[in-house]
Amino acid sequence: MAGTGSLRHDEMVYLKSLANALQELVVSLFEEGVSEILVNPGEDDPYSKIAGRYGISREALLEEAVKRGFLKPVVADRLVFCPKCGNTSFKARYACPSCGSRDVEKNTLFSHVMCGYIGVLESAPKDARGNTLCPKCSRPLGTQDKDWVKIGVTYRCKGCGLTFSVPSTLLECTSCGNVFDHREATYKEIYRYSVDRSILANAYGQVLSKRVAEAIASKGYKVHFNAEIITLSGLKKKVPMLAEKGSEKFVVETVFPREDDAVKAREEVLNAYGRTLDSNEKHLIVAVKAPAELSRKPEHVETIRGDSLEDAIRKLREKLK
Ligand SMILES: [Zn+2]
Ligand SMILES: [Zn+2]
Ligand SMILES: [Zn+2]
Repeated sequence: MAGTGSLRHDEMVYLKSLANALQELVVSLFEEGVSEILVNPGEDDPYSKIAGRYGISREALLEEAVKRGFLKPVVADRLVFCPKCGNTSFKARYACPSCGSRDVEKNTLFSHVMCGYIGVLESAPKDARGNTLCPKCSRPLGTQDKDWVKIGVTYRCKGCGLTFSVPSTLLECTSCGNVFDHREATYKEIYRYSVDRSILANAYGQVLSKRVAEAIASKGYKVHFNAEIITLSGLKKKVPMLAEKGSEKFVVETVFPREDDAVKAREEVLNAYGRTLDSNEKHLIVAVKAPAELSRKPEHVETIRGDSLEDAIRKLREKLK
């Protein structure tokens, strides 16, 4: 029983870390206008750093982002990975497919067109300048495909004497030294991710609301989501967030430009102002990257403007002190 309980606790801690890392990923991708991610296995990037801060793997983080729909994976390549450590750079060696010996020599069969000789290129003699000489006529081979031609390549095991055309390839991991062949190799796809900016914008909006609510709650306010207020005409109206402490009460709106479009960003702020006009309740608008020229606003509205989500949250905390 205790075992099950502690496992659940571990899982909860993990899920919380994953959720926090995902939040940071959403903010980073959205604010930096990223439209595509290419992941190089074994190389650090901003996403492995975010994941690392929360003690999770980049793969787990990106997988979660795919589940949430704002990253779409596309197979970019397929690579061999070290089955022990996941590294992708190796020293390659040939081995005998029969006895496994690494004492394997390459034999390139060639024909010297000028004299008709057929033999093994690797065992032909060389002159002082390094030119390969024909063992029969002793002249330099000359130009390939004109004076001489390659007929084929075979390998010969010096251990068991077997001749074969395709050797086994052994890979030695340059990171951990593990030696393996294609049977043990981890072979998998690597992905490029295209960013769905529209789904990402929704996720960013959720993170912004959540962070704003947390900041307000940390100052002793009760935060109600989807709360009701009474409008000037006496009707009930839903507002996204209502903060309350004693007799103090205010509606909270969050605004951010969903697209990199100054006109639309301006519209979003104006819309937020517009929504405040049918009530006397105090309103607090927390705006990220909102256009600065919108200084004229209704009197019962206060605006906090940040250059980034973190900047807006910091200013919000200062204001609520
Ligand atoms: Zn052999
Ligand atoms: Zn010759
Ligand atoms: Zn390795």
